[in-house]
Amino acid sequence: MNKISFKIGLLFFVAIFLLESISMFFLHDNIIHSRVHDELSALQTRGNNHREILEASFQEETIRHIAMMEARTDTQVILTTPDDGIYMSSNKVTNEMKKILKGTPRSVPHDGLILEDDWKHATYIASISPVVIDNKVNGYVYMFQSTQKIKDLISGLNRHFLLAGLLSLLFMMIIIVFLTRAVTDPLIKMSDATKRISKGDFSVSLPKLGKDEIGELGESIKVLASDLEVLKNERNEFLASISHELRTPLTYIKGYADIARRADPASPDRDNFLGIIFEESVKLSKLVKELFDLAKMDENNFSIEKEEVHLLPYFQSIIEKVLPALKENQMELVLSCQSELSGVIDPIRFEQVILNLLDNARKYSEPNTKIIVGADTVDGKLQVIVHDEGKGIPEMDLARIFERFYRVDKSRTRALGGTGLGLSIVKQLVEAHGGTIEVFSSLGVGTTFKIIL
Ligand code: ADP
Repeated sequence: MNKISFKIGLLFFVAIFLLESISMFFLHDNIIHSRVHDELSALQTRGNNHREILEASFQEETIRHIAMMEARTDTQVILTTPDDGIYMSSNKVTNEMKKILKGTPRSVPHDGLILEDDWKHATYIASISPVVIDNKVNGYVYMFQSTQKIKDLISGLNRHFLLAGLLSLLFMMIIIVFLTRAVTDPLIKMSDATKRISKGDFSVSLPKLGKDEIGELGESIKVLASDLEVLKNERNEFLASISHELRTPLTYIKGYADIARRADPASPDRDNFLGIIFEESVKLSKLVKELFDLAKMDENNFSIEKEEVHLLPYFQSIIEKVLPALKENQMELVLSCQSELSGVIDPIRFEQVILNLLDNARKYSEPNTKIIVGADTVDGKLQVIVHDEGKGIPEMDLARIFERFYRVDKSRTRALGGTGLGLSIVKQLVEAHGGTIEVFSSLGVGTTFKIIL
């Protein structure tokens, strides 16, 4: 049996058992109390009846008649004189009876009294009723009844209670077993499933568990398993891509370093080789930096610190950084932003977004073309566009350019120093700002990236 089933079962058992025991105890006590009370008042009433008859006719004849009547029952009547002499008794007067007769109190109310009610220990229960004629006590009617009858009655009752108790205990056990199973079965299944997931088996199958919290938990585990599987596959792919990306520049570096090492120090080729080695090292460090950026963004504690930024001077300062490179390519950059416009952004991270987009616009455009950077508020949202008149992106690649290591033209972009990580970094940063990025492009005409914050 599982630990949880045992715990819950035990808890159910103790709770129900306590509840049942307490209610049984009170029920038992109440029944006994009322049965004994019934017996006692019946006895007293019987005594009072005899007394009434005697009060109506206190004669030999009547007294004998009463004695005869009682002799046939399980009760016994004794009629005494006011000074404790025995007038009549329906049966033999035992020592216990005598003891009770002697202990009679001085004043007895007309309705009588219970003289002995200790059914557990005494041999008889007893009552007394005074016979009053013309305001004078003529005698006392004592009624006795053996307590054995009550004891038998109670022990019969106890037997019933015991049987009922045992039966309900049995039912309780059966119910608890089923109940516990119903509660713990899904939990145990889920625990097994998570164990399998942690061992790398993502093919968990949990039965339908309903729409309650447990059902939701089961659904979450299924979602978790499939997410984990996707994540694991992605990680493997990512690692494969990284090693592939690192291998290419490293092969160049290794190869040219080897040739340069053996080349004549005076040879002009040697400078050429060293130049290639330098370029490849630059690419490599860019790749490593971008990978590091992505890794930081994947961490949970990556935070965006937004502040109100005056956009015109902000964009101007970014553009200044790229102008030399644009000039080199004879490209023009136009900034369209109203002077009072401001936005709530993380200035450092958003600069990286714009720089990456501008770098792409430059890389994938011909000389003598124009780049436009525009910022505006549309429907209360900040909208930033970066537009170029470059070669454009084929329709079928548009959906994938934000993926890590995705490049449209592998060999050409690599030659241009592209790592394939720029746009995925852009996308993650924009999303971290709570924004979205879209791309529109037509081949040979140009490309527009639109960010909405
Ligand atoms: P890379 O470092 O290769 O530029 P990115 O993630 O920045 O990587 O871009 C992914 C691919 O999208 C690029 O390889 C390029 O083919 C295409 N691309 C990105 N920006 C543009 C653009 N402005 N014009 C044309 N193609 C672009």
